Amino acid sequence: MKTKIRNLFLKLFVTALPFCLLFFLFVNNSATAGTASRNSYAGNKAKYVFLFIGDGMGLPQVSAAEIYSGAGKNSKYPDGSRVLSFTDFPSQGLTTTHDASSFITDSASAGTAIACGYKTLNGVISMDVDKKIKYESISKKAKKNGMKVGIISSVSIDHATPATFYSNQPSRKNMYEISLELADSGFDYFAGGSVDDPDGKKSKMQNKPGNVFSYAKKKGYKIINSKKDFVKLNKKSGKVWVVTEQPADAASMLYEIDRKNGVSSLADFTKKGIEVLDNENGFFMMVEGGKIDWACHANDGMSAIRDTFAFSEAVQHAVDFAKKHPAETLIVVTGDHECGGMTIGFAGTQYDTFFNKLNSQKVSFAKFDEDFSKMKAKSNLTFDSVMPLITKYFGLKTGKGGDMDLTGYEMDLLKTAFAESLKDAKSRTNDENSAIIYGSYEPLTVTITHILNRKAGIGWTTYSHTGVPVPTYAYGTGNEIFNGFYDNTDIYGKMAAVMNIK
Ligand SMILES: [Zn+2]
Repeated sequence: MKTKIRNLFLKLFVTALPFCLLFFLFVNNSATAGTASRNSYAGNKAKYVFLFIGDGMGLPQVSAAEIYSGAGKNSKYPDGSRVLSFTDFPSQGLTTTHDASSFITDSASAGTAIACGYKTLNGVISMDVDKKIKYESISKKAKKNGMKVGIISSVSIDHATPATFYSNQPSRKNMYEISLELADSGFDYFAGGSVDDPDGKKSKMQNKPGNVFSYAKKKGYKIINSKKDFVKLNKKSGKVWVVTEQPADAASMLYEIDRKNGVSSLADFTKKGIEVLDNENGFFMMVEGGKIDWACHANDGMSAIRDTFAFSEAVQHAVDFAKKHPAETLIVVTGDHECGGMTIGFAGTQYDTFFNKLNSQKVSFAKFDEDFSKMKAKSNLTFDSVMPLITKYFGLKTGKGGDMDLTGYEMDLLKTAFAESLKDAKSRTNDENSAIIYGSYEPLTVTITHILNRKAGIGWTTYSHTGVPVPTYAYGTGNEIFNGFYDNTDIYGKMAAVMNIK
């Protein structure tokens, strides 16, 4: 009897085995076939590849900039007809941004997905979820294949997004280690903000090799931090690391709204990058508009709009280059996630927008913070003595019924926030509410930008990122495979296919 049952099981097993195998192959194949067909490409290989990442740039950020360009008649873009350089690209996609553990990604996991094609956890730089496997980024593969590589960012160059292209770290906070990997990368051109921890003071690393700029020099990099030396750079300059001549908050470049003429812009760094990298074997260039994100974290709509324009101007240089090399250039523009829960439309303005009111804002929230903190250092500061600065920088006035006049409700909000700002951050009365109302920002400043943004018809829901998909735009060689609805890991897959990189 026992043998009979055993034989029956054996028979069943032998008969079922081929079906199981077939089923497994089918499921497995259909999964990879789906990704493969989404990202398959048989056309000409792209020799010059530009990847532009608007950090925190979802559809609301793009739309706000375009709406503003129509409304801001007295702005830097006075004809009112200007549109962003990439919104009319021939191929457009919607891109999901969730990471391995959350629907809301940070820039480290989003950067890893775009640079390497894998999902990972928040905070992880181009490594797997167990922080053991180091992923090889598309930029490292491009370099191996003989292309030159450039990495540019308006925030510090050791920040999460740029880091995912040249570094592998279990934590984005290892900024000294990240900057050392920059010097070890052998990439040809770095430009943008400075670094957060040049001497490794925050690092627990054993046997530190010293200051990162000296270390990079030993590795053959020219360090450039003056306009005079920057303009001289050309394709014979060798490996260069350009640091903004005016580092601002957290070693980043200035917010575009605060940048004076003459200080290098993201577009200047991009244009020069093309000049330095242009060579027979082609190049890969990643440009991050990082301060769009920082402005949106602070719920400062006008600063985000101005940095979106700065980003758009950088893209324009790539478009100009592509027109000269039409059969071999690919330009991809995407966002790594939305930030701030920004939207067009507010309860108080209903079906209207008044973006021309944003023209009253003259500086970023960060610049106001700076001036306000100097005032706070003096004792007995009153709200009335700060009001002139609010009017000067944001156009908000005490008056009755004028366009930029504060209502009684808005005045109450400002005064409450001012009182909150005068308290030590740790001793703020109601911590939980404070985190929802003001985030980790200066209460007065964030209340000012909220009031101005609402007057314009812009709303915000958070001081963090959100989980909505972002738009992706493509131009040039292979652009057609960037149409449709796909994941951020597919951006890697699509670029790799068009570059013929395995
Ligand atoms: Zn962010």
